[in-house]
Amino acid sequence: MAYAVTHVIVAIVLIDLYRDYIAKKKFSTWFVLIGGIAGLLPDIDVPLQWISSSAIGQAVTLHRIVTHSLVFVVLFLLVALVFHLQKHKNLSIFSRKISYGNIALFFTVIAAGWLTHIALDCGVAGDYSLTWFPGIPLGFCFHPFSGDALLGLDAVILVLWLIHEEWARKIKDFI
Ligand SMILES: [Zn+2]
Repeated sequence: MAYAVTHVIVAIVLIDLYRDYIAKKKFSTWFVLIGGIAGLLPDIDVPLQWISSSAIGQAVTLHRIVTHSLVFVVLFLLVALVFHLQKHKNLSIFSRKISYGNIALFFTVIAAGWLTHIALDCGVAGDYSLTWFPGIPLGFCFHPFSGDALLGLDAVILVLWLIHEEWARKIKDFI
């Protein structure tokens, strides 16, 4: 299992690099943060496993069964597509207008963060089904890297990203 910090950092760095070099900063850094948080969300099944085990009084296995499925990535992308197809409309919440385009982006970065989580876990966590869905136990994960490969990965990525940020944006100016 990759570390929680690794999941967040990898998702943030990848989405931020996409924002900088492919989208050319056409969306707010808030979406980068949302994607980073989404990079951790599949592990919500860990506290759910603790809670249900203690509530039932026997060990319940939930981790990497439902939330670690590519089904969620596909569902978030489908929701994003529905909003993207009507991107010129707006949603009014508390007298604020939120464009459907931004809602589509919201679900897209969640799908991206979710996917980085599954990819990281898939690389080190052992065999589990990537396509949980009732009746479709296909797509088993393989794990080419040992868990030790992730020791310090978050530190390496963070240092490389800080060097990139210093080179690209002169972060010293903000200190
Ligand atoms: Zn996980």
